Amino acid sequence: MAVDSFAHDPEAALASYASRSRTSRGRAHSEPPPRYRTEFQRDRDRIVHSGAFRRLEYKTQVFVNHVGDMYRTRLTHTLEVAQIARGIARALRLNEDLAEAIALAHDLGHTPFGHAGQEALHACMRPYGGFEHNRQSLRVVDVLEARYAEFDGLNLCFETREGILKHCARAHARTLGAVAARFVDGGQPGLEAQLTNLADEIAYNNHDVDDGLRSGLITVEQLRDIDLFAAPYREVAERYGPLPERRHIAETVRRMIDAEVSDLIVTSLDRIAEAAPRHPDEARAQPEPLIAYSDAMAAKNLELKRFLYRALYRHPQVKAMNAEAQTLIEALFGHFMAHPDDLPTDTARKARNLLDTQGEDGQARTVADHIAGMTDRYALAQGRRFGLPAMSPAALDVTPGPLNR
Ligand code: MG
Repeated sequence: MAVDSFAHDPEAALASYASRSRTSRGRAHSEPPPRYRTEFQRDRDRIVHSGAFRRLEYKTQVFVNHVGDMYRTRLTHTLEVAQIARGIARALRLNEDLAEAIALAHDLGHTPFGHAGQEALHACMRPYGGFEHNRQSLRVVDVLEARYAEFDGLNLCFETREGILKHCARAHARTLGAVAARFVDGGQPGLEAQLTNLADEIAYNNHDVDDGLRSGLITVEQLRDIDLFAAPYREVAERYGPLPERRHIAETVRRMIDAEVSDLIVTSLDRIAEAAPRHPDEARAQPEPLIAYSDAMAAKNLELKRFLYRALYRHPQVKAMNAEAQTLIEALFGHFMAHPDDLPTDTARKARNLLDTQGEDGQARTVADHIAGMTDRYALAQGRRFGLPAMSPAALDVTPGPLNR
């Protein structure tokens, strides 16, 4: 006997305020529903099959992709976000498939070389409408992926797209329609989007502590002043006595993640109980997000973020690496604007067409899309190919710290 669809509703056990395939605001191009998956499972699968997803493997998170095989890349960061988001979603009876889809797509628009790359590309694009990585992630899934016969992009559900667009400048939001309406009219995104946003933060704060210590750019001594780290670090010492440092740090970081996730779940359940939303739209209409840390945890979290900003992201060695990455991105942009024929054939054709129809703005956007899609190593290779300033070996060499093994 042929089975045409689910015999049961796989989303039946979700809370009233969870997003559901059945009540989704749908896709830009209507498609028959998937036979054996929910709509959000389909979104997740499309994201994993996209070209932009595969390229995350060779993009910088904090450390340039090839400085050491032990550091996070954008891909492993993305996987950590997805598993933290799924855990929180399940505990809150929210839609785990949707949270996972948002998490897997959230960084698709990131440039090579992390935030340094994004800042450089934004500076280049300032005369042409600017560049934001969140808006670019949406652009990747809405427009740039070219895999389907009937439409551009991945034709994802509204709820997935809403979650991908984490931030957006008001002026740009006006051009994006319903998916960006909250940046103009106020309101919150769905609860799965809210929790995935915080799962992102939990993942990067903790893995940046881990990678930062591994690199030797930050030290346990410095972190002893930071509550979120200091308390579990002490607890591990008291419980297990002397441990090899790497193991001590790993035990500490897993406790930090657990503390943040547990606080988030408990606090959010309270807030949800108080607001008592009966539908995802009632959660969207709240004046504040319902997914949140307690005030005490929010303060600890902020302390850690400020520390990482000061001690790691602004570390002279990271700054030197970033400065050279910015120089390369700016040089690539300048080169492709002056020599669009050096773009890959299809991209060059598109740039010429857009130059004719939209002027320089159109050409610049095509060049920005091309550069944003590059991996670190492809950007470096393109720089060499066109004789642009190369990144020095010193900038690519993060001093191997005592823990870098
Ligand atoms: Mg992220």
